[in-house]
Amino acid sequence: MTGIVYKSTGSWYFVKSADGEFHQCRMKGKLRLKGIKSTNPIAVGDKVVFDLEKKGDEETGVIKKILDRDNFIVRKSVNLSKQTHIIAANIDQVFLLITINNPPTFTTFIDRFLVSTRAYRIDTILVFNKIDSYEIEERAEILYLKDIYEAIGYRCVEVSATENKNVSEIKEIMTGKTSMFVGHSGVGKSTLVNAIEPTLNLKTKQISDQHKQGQHTTTFAEMFDLSFDARIIDTPGIKGFGVVDIDKYELGDYFPEFFALKQDCKFNNCIHTKEPNCAVKEALEEERISWSRYKSYLQILSGDEEKEHFRTDVW
Ligand code: GDP
Ligand code: ZN
Repeated sequence: MTGIVYKSTGSWYFVKSADGEFHQCRMKGKLRLKGIKSTNPIAVGDKVVFDLEKKGDEETGVIKKILDRDNFIVRKSVNLSKQTHIIAANIDQVFLLITINNPPTFTTFIDRFLVSTRAYRIDTILVFNKIDSYEIEERAEILYLKDIYEAIGYRCVEVSATENKNVSEIKEIMTGKTSMFVGHSGVGKSTLVNAIEPTLNLKTKQISDQHKQGQHTTTFAEMFDLSFDARIIDTPGIKGFGVVDIDKYELGDYFPEFFALKQDCKFNNCIHTKEPNCAVKEALEEERISWSRYKSYLQILSGDEEKEHFRTDVW
């Protein structure tokens, strides 16, 4: 049988098969994965092949194979082995929640995040939340940001989670897909998810309360089916995506508007800083590329650690 992993405790995996049934599965011996070394061989969202075995009254599954992943997100393991931990796999899209105030979300944070989701090959939708609360200058800021990001191909949606404004548009985008909600603490992730699916919030709250009482500090991601055709991956305790290490000659490829111009730069290894006849810098001077995007690019290029005052987490 094949199925999708909805939950993992580290030794047990809860797998949903195509008929909608859940099966408690173990992993068969040592499954070796090609390519990456991780502390967990199987992650939430993985598609697996398993056999059912009957022992007495209990029927459990044995996972024999993990199917190739479309994508996956990792974080560096806290221990010193420098192994990575796979947070989740096969994610269709991430909703990045942005607020202008309470808390402010800076473009450097947005751009850094977009680099990592592009590197992970995960679609990202920008959700401007709390639109019920803004003054005229803050509204202008949203329009300015939407102009920048829509021009380079990112879908933007303005919502109010508390006033239930445009929540139906989010649900529409979620339909048929597996989604995650990400953003600074306080941007309204829980409130939005609650507006999307009132009963789900309760469920996750209970689970994370249980986690808090447990001895383990590690929490695992979990996938939920919603009442409409959509899935959501909840990742309690995960503070952000580990940004993959990107070579300085490659960074521009993760800025779609830079990438589109790359072939017009004089040097094919141009990093768009001091080189002559750089198509990116020409576009910048002609304001076809936004300065805030270029500023973020330089900041990431220089390897400056993000100095954010606000905690970032994933819903
Ligand atoms: P999280 O940390 O991202 O999960 O944020 P919460 O969902 O806990 O929301 C943080 C605060 O922002 C709460 O006080 C919410 O009531 C408030 N909030 C969330 N969405 C909205 C919104 O659309 N409008 C306004 N005015 N407040 C909101
Ligand atoms: Zn260039």
